[in-house]
Amino acid sequence: MAAAWVRLCALVLIGVSSGAALAKDKTPSAIVVGGGLAGLTAAYELQSKGWQVTLLEAKSGMGGRSGLATSEWIGNSKAQPVLNQYLDRFKLETLPAPEFVRTPGYLIDGEYFSATDLATKQPATAEALKRYEKTLDDLARSIDDPLKPQANSTLFALDQINVSTWLDKLQLPATARQLVNQQIRTRYDEPSRLSLLYFAQQNRVYRGISDRDLRAARLPGGSPVLAQAFVKQLKTIKTSSPVTAIVQDKDGVTVKAGSVGYQADYVVMAVPLRALAKIQMTPGLDGQHLAALKGTNYGWRDQLMLKFKKPVWESRARMSGEIFSNTGLGMLWIEPALKGGANVVINLSGDNARLLQAFGDKQMVDQVLIRLHAFYPQARGSYTGYEIKRYSTDAGTGGAYLAYGPGQISKYWRLWERPVQRVAFAGEHTDALYPGTLEGALRSGQRAAGQVQDLLAGKSFEPEKVAPVAAAPAANTSKGKGGFFSNLFGGGSEQDDKADKAPVKAEPEKHEEAKHEGGKQEQPGFFSRLFGAL
Ligand SMILES: Cc1cc2nc3c(=O)[nH]c(=O)nc-3n(C[C@H](O)[C@H](O)[C@H](O)COP(=O)(O)OP(=O)(O)OC[C@H]3O[C@@H](n4cnc5c(N)ncnc54)[C@H](O)[C@@H]3O)c2cc1C
Repeated sequence: MAAAWVRLCALVLIGVSSGAALAKDKTPSAIVVGGGLAGLTAAYELQSKGWQVTLLEAKSGMGGRSGLATSEWIGNSKAQPVLNQYLDRFKLETLPAPEFVRTPGYLIDGEYFSATDLATKQPATAEALKRYEKTLDDLARSIDDPLKPQANSTLFALDQINVSTWLDKLQLPATARQLVNQQIRTRYDEPSRLSLLYFAQQNRVYRGISDRDLRAARLPGGSPVLAQAFVKQLKTIKTSSPVTAIVQDKDGVTVKAGSVGYQADYVVMAVPLRALAKIQMTPGLDGQHLAALKGTNYGWRDQLMLKFKKPVWESRARMSGEIFSNTGLGMLWIEPALKGGANVVINLSGDNARLLQAFGDKQMVDQVLIRLHAFYPQARGSYTGYEIKRYSTDAGTGGAYLAYGPGQISKYWRLWERPVQRVAFAGEHTDALYPGTLEGALRSGQRAAGQVQDLLAGKSFEPEKVAPVAAAPAANTSKGKGGFFSNLFGGGSEQDDKADKAPVKAEPEKHEEAKHEGGKQEQPGFFSRLFGAL
């Protein structure tokens, strides 16, 4: 009897261990949805760990969102460490940026000023910009850990305020305010649509990183060149395969693209939120995720590239790099084209981009050209054509990139960094430090690949139990002379003192410029208001 029992135990043990060996030997598999840089990174990292990976991309081409620049500016390894690691790994050569493009320039009523020119020729504007930068830096410094921007109730309260309200308090002179608005809407979104906490957190992340670090080199061919380097490494890519549904069960996932169903152990969803909202998930996402899919703000930015036979600006000034105009021309990049000639990329952002929704491509190009010719008559005979990218109206992104609106950090902070059962999420919008950038997309792909491996190893990603943050106290309980909010708004006016004493209430979003410029009855003169008078 005892012998039989021992034999039985031995058989069971052999069965168990051979089953485990079988599970261990099976090549783990993953499907990556989305062939932008985030999805490409996730697929590449998993494949290099021995996973069997299938990448599904909706469009016929790979690479996802990429700007129109033919020779994209990129940061050095201080500003964009992960990007630089991949450039090295794939041996992609960059060209060092010439010194004069590494700091921003300004186009004020059509006249170009370098940062140094501005200090001597427009001292009031230069001083106001400095005051703005100093106040913003103080605000950024108040965040200890950019991964926990809402760490205390005072900071939490900043999430309820929009950036425009904060700027109003600074009382900048008109030109400085226009330039600041332009810079913010180009990098994020319209100031009135942005959470002040998000803006502060982003400035905390980039604290100590100068414009010179951010524009250190040029990548000939731009981000599509990096995307192609990933594509070359991947074994299984299916383009023109829009995913419509994902079903998870205890054994794996089935991903539906057209009439084909793909099966794997795990999925990485590397698509923007608006695209994710269109994919049916079983079991469904919870209420918080669904609200985030619908409500998270994306900055708007459209790009218009005007092509010229020769760099017509050279005679006037060595204009290049990032140039902020105080008129609706937005932010301009002027760059030598790869095949000779010169390109001007006009970045129309924020509410300027929203207003332009109503206009056709050609109409928009004509209006921009009229303004450019007024400033630069020598450009007239040199123009050869245009390209346009309207991310704002692309149903797949619904904007250019993530830019948290008021109240949204409080609701959705780091939500997509947590896998949901067998699904991990990637994409610029899921990166807490560098959203809206190539760096963020690459980092998110690495993180999601790591999480899928952790899931396979049995790790759980149950939500952390976080203590709820209390309502904002009267702000004079905070640090420093004069109270946190008066320091924050850069002054000690009576108004600021009142703000210091009263608990902060959520500010309703204001879209003043949109109201004035975009109202139907105001159509006549629309372009002159938008682009500045001739
Ligand atoms: C105008 C503009 C200028 C920018 N400038 C800079 C810059 O100067 N520096 C910088 O660092 N970053 C810049 N960025 C940001 C950078 O381009 C993005 O952060 C990055 O490309 C996002 O990559 P991603 O993989 O997260 O998303 P995406 O590139 O959008 O990739 C998502 C992919 O998913 C696919 N997809 C969507 N739905 C489905 C579906 N149902 N099934 C299958 N596939 C699907 C899409 O077709 C797409 O290919 C800029 C962005 C824009 C729009």
